[in-house]
Order: sequence, then C-alpha cells, then structure tokens
Amino acid sequence: MSADEPIPLARPVIGDRERELVDAVLRSRQLSLGPTVTRFEEMWAERIGTRHAVACSSGTAGLHCCLHALGLGPGDEVITSSFSFVASANVILYTGATPVFAEVDPLTFNMDPAAVEAAITPRTKAILIVDIFGYPAEVPALVDIARRHGLGIVEDACQSIDGDYDGRKLGTFGHPAVYGFYANKQLTTAEGGVILTDDDDLYRLLKSLTNQGRSDDGAWLVHSRLGFNYRLSDVHAAIGVAQIERLDWMQDARARIAGLYQQRMAGIDGVTPMYEGPQRRSWFVYAPRLAPDLDRDAIIGRLEAEGISAKPYLPCIHLQPYYRDEHGHRPGELAVTEAISASTIALPFFCEMTDAQVDRVCDAVQRAIQAERAGATGAVGARAT
Ligand SMILES: *Cc1c(COP(=O)(O)O)cnc(C)c1O
Repeated sequence: MSADEPIPLARPVIGDRERELVDAVLRSRQLSLGPTVTRFEEMWAERIGTRHAVACSSGTAGLHCCLHALGLGPGDEVITSSFSFVASANVILYTGATPVFAEVDPLTFNMDPAAVEAAITPRTKAILIVDIFGYPAEVPALVDIARRHGLGIVEDACQSIDGDYDGRKLGTFGHPAVYGFYANKQLTTAEGGVILTDDDDLYRLLKSLTNQGRSDDGAWLVHSRLGFNYRLSDVHAAIGVAQIERLDWMQDARARIAGLYQQRMAGIDGVTPMYEGPQRRSWFVYAPRLAPDLDRDAIIGRLEAEGISAKPYLPCIHLQPYYRDEHGHRPGELAVTEAISASTIALPFFCEMTDAQVDRVCDAVQRAIQAERAGATGAVGARAT
C-alpha cells in the first residue's frame, strides 16, 4: 500500500484457502445442512474443548437462542452491560424480558460483579455476560453470583473469540458462550456465529431452535416446538473452516499490531492506551481513550481527512434512541459506562496492517491532538484579548 492510501477500520484476511473451500461447497451442490457446517462445528468444539458447538447465522441469533432456551418472558429481568454492541441487549428484548444494565469496571470496561449483585431483584432470571473489547469479564465471580441466586447465565463472547479466563477457555465455564463472525471480528464467515456448550440437553434444544424447531430425532418436517431459521449455510461455514485453520496466525498478528500501538500510544499525551491486566485479551479492536478535554469528533474528523478511518466506539446501549424513547433510559444512569463510552476511539486494526500503517495512524493521532489543543488554547487567548 502506498503511503497515503486510505486505512480502513477493519479488513478480513481472505485467501486462496477460503476460495478453495467455498468453491468445493458450491461444486458439491450441498449448500446448507451439509457436511461443511458439521465440520465447522466439530473444529470449534475441539479447539475450545467443549462437548458441543452449534453453528448459527449470526452472533445475535446464537444469543437469542440461548436466552430463549432459558424460557424468559415478559416481567423477567436479565442483568447485562450497557457498554456493548446493541445486539446483546436486543436479544433480551426479543424474549419479552427486560435488560437491566449494571455498571462496569473503569479499567476492564466489563460488568462489575458487585454492581451485578446489587441489581438483582425478585424478577431477575439471568445474567448476560459480555467480554467487551476481547478482555474477559470476571466470569468466575459472576458464575458464583448466579449460582447463589439461582440465575441462568449466557455469555456474549462475540468480541473475545478463542478467549480465556486464567487459561480456561470461555465457553467451558458451565454456561453457553457465543461467538460472532461478522467481517470485522477476529475470524469471519461474512455473517455467522457459534454457540459453545457442554450440556447435551441444551445442545439438542439449540440444534432444534436454530433449525425451525425441528424434532430432536431430525425427522423430516416434524416440528416439535416453535423455532427459528438461524442456520449457518455450508457456503459460510466453508469460509469459517479456512479461517479456523489460520486462527492462530491471525490472533498472533493482531496481538503484535496491538503491541506496536500500545507502545506508541503510551508516548502520546492525551491518550490512555488499552488496559493490560492479569488476563489475556483476545484482540478485537484497538480503542484507546482520549483525555476528557479533547473533542473526539474533531479528532476523528482530522483523522478521516488524512484517509484514516476512526469511530466513536462503543456508544452505550442505554442511550441509543430506541432505548431512550421506548424504554425510558436517560443520561446519568451509568456514570462510569457513559464516561468510557464518551472517550474511547476505535482506530484501524487488522491482521495485515503494516508497521508503517500503525506509525501513520499514531503520528496522525498525535498531530490531531496537538492541533486540537493549540486550537483550544488559541480560542481562549482570542477571547482574553
Ligand atoms: C459482533 C457482536 C455481536 C453479534 O453480532 P452479529 O453481527 O449478530 O454476529 C454481539 N455482541 C457483541 C458485543 C458483538 O460485538
């Protein structure tokens, strides 16, 4: 890439192997409910070490099925994080239940277990854990809270593909965990997801729910429950098989790029690099924080003017228009979540980013911050005279 070519926010790795496997599926004419989906599921179960993996059409679909399997309905509450992609709260609404947002930890950006426990009411039925930005939530503490209060758990690990807590893979803690494979994720099937579980009964139920409620014995056109069409096609699964084959390389590449970013960002006044704590992060985005005096939109504008994509990321869920208008949420409800959400900025981040591109982004961030601060000081000076 030339020095001033635009740098996108994300870019999947797609190579000859993806094309070869997709082509093989197309030639086989077995485009859905075929052996490639089964192979994709088996590869996940083996990699993570769960008894089962259920492929589905998106991370959202997988989360919806897991919550549906808990039998949630109107009047029930599910505790979750507002510092997440909107899908993780929407799936609670799909079941008729109400999302209750617990405050997050200012370092990890994940739900604070004490806040989760404080949010429990007689109506609480489940906890929906989110591992945001690929850093694992306090899973053991949350599992303990759920056990003591008799609550279900579903884990949205969509941003923490192949992640772990203390070396134990997410998905192996006794509750189902879901990955999403949209094109900006660590691994993609274009659209898709997978549910990981050790529970044989839940596995059979999820297989049925994702496939129109088909009877558990697989009898043709016998539908024993109300289900969904949340199947992953074999065409998408073929991309996924090729992607799992290169997953170690992709994860290492992301960690390396993140390391370069972390070093450079630590030297830029006005930026707080991403948190590095006791747990391993499965690197999904590179989203450091800007100092509160900085105008994030103005900085994004300056980066975009240089061909560098950047986004305010993540907007908190409870302040989305739909959640304000239909569910009465208001600014000020979650001070920590809102402050994080107002200051994090997603920068270009993908496996095949070059060192020169990382340098170009960091130089541009530094210049944008300096220009903003000079402008702000200039304006004050102008008023003073
Ligand atoms: C990507 C993502 C999902 C699922 O997204 P899909 O596009 O439905 O695959 C869910 N939750 C979070 C936090 C995500 O980042």
